[in-house]
Amino acid sequence: MKLQSYDELLNSKHRLSLMLFLFLNSATSLFFMFSTKKNIHQLLTTPEIIIASLGIIILLWMLLKRSVKLPILNVVASISGLLWTWQIALKHPESYFGDSFLIVSLVGIFFIGAIALGDYLSAFCLHIAPPSAAVLLLDQGHNTLLILFSIALPLTGLTLHHMMQRRRDHFTRRLMRQLYEEKQTYSDLSMLDPLTGLYNRRGLKNRLDNTLANHSGSHFVLLIDIDNFKAYNDNYGHAMGDQALARVSVAIRDAVRSRDIVTRYGGEEFLVLLTNVNASIAMKLADRIRLYVLNLAIPHRFNESVATHVTISAGFAPLINDDFDSALVNADRALYLAKSCGRNTIVPYEDIAGQLTSASAR
Ligand code: GH3
Ligand code: MG
Ligand code: MG
Repeated sequence: MKLQSYDELLNSKHRLSLMLFLFLNSATSLFFMFSTKKNIHQLLTTPEIIIASLGIIILLWMLLKRSVKLPILNVVASISGLLWTWQIALKHPESYFGDSFLIVSLVGIFFIGAIALGDYLSAFCLHIAPPSAAVLLLDQGHNTLLILFSIALPLTGLTLHHMMQRRRDHFTRRLMRQLYEEKQTYSDLSMLDPLTGLYNRRGLKNRLDNTLANHSGSHFVLLIDIDNFKAYNDNYGHAMGDQALARVSVAIRDAVRSRDIVTRYGGEEFLVLLTNVNASIAMKLADRIRLYVLNLAIPHRFNESVATHVTISAGFAPLINDDFDSALVNADRALYLAKSCGRNTIVPYEDIAGQLTSASAR
């Protein structure tokens, strides 16, 4: 869930308020047109015709074009306020409700505004300001107190409502932002290995998908395995083993470029996706990793016949046609050969690919 979805919710609320406002205006206007005429020959007034027809037209148009955003609530509210003022001025002399006409009209206009524009204080004020002023003028001081009370009461209520609404809105936005950030943090954490801070398989998958989508260059899969690590663990203890793993991870990270994706692929196995490189640079980077790890000089007396320090072996293979699984299988074959060649060494898959082909031909 993103902050945009909250904005979309507000947009749709705005749209619904506009539709409700148009509907209430049209309905009230139609009521005036057909039920308050003293006789059938009485003419319809221009403002009531405009309010009813314009309201219905915009309403129908909005129903047909559901995806269109219309931030015109203030404009529509101002126009309706002016049209209702015109209507009141026209009808006042021959009013249907007698003396109460001005109050009844004003209450009706406030009613429409409060129902449809309750959450939009500026639109509400634009809608009620012209008729309120007109009613005060036309009344010529007969009921000033009553009219002022009729204006002040809903206006105060709506202002308070608006202030509460803003606070709630602010709170919701902050909450949404926090939730989104926390979600992002957990999502990031779920892609990292806690011991080494490197990507785990999930992180690799995520970065791999991005890399394949955005970089069309040639990439290599490099598979690294610490030599005789079981013996290290058995003799120095698991805690020391963990420390060694963490230090080897740093060495691998330091040896490659920031654009290379370094992953802890399994227990003491690492996978590096070397991006945008050719075979010779891949070889150089892989050998640099080997040397960096060796230069850590982590004592390992049980790294039989290889060295007296912790070492790694690695195999790498090109990523062809975005086929990661095949590249992984090939890199693993090369790693296997590196192990059988005596460890502390790097083998490119292309070195064994020829042998494999000739062996299968035989
Ligand atoms: P090779 O040179 O053939 O790779 O021999 P190896 O002993 O490294 O290989 P093997 O797969 O037999 O042993 C891997 C060992 O890595 C087994 C386990 O004790 C150790 N290991 C795996 N994950 C962890 C870890 O998270 N922490 C520690 N301390 N040790 C681990
Ligand atoms: Mg292993
Ligand atoms: Mg190993």
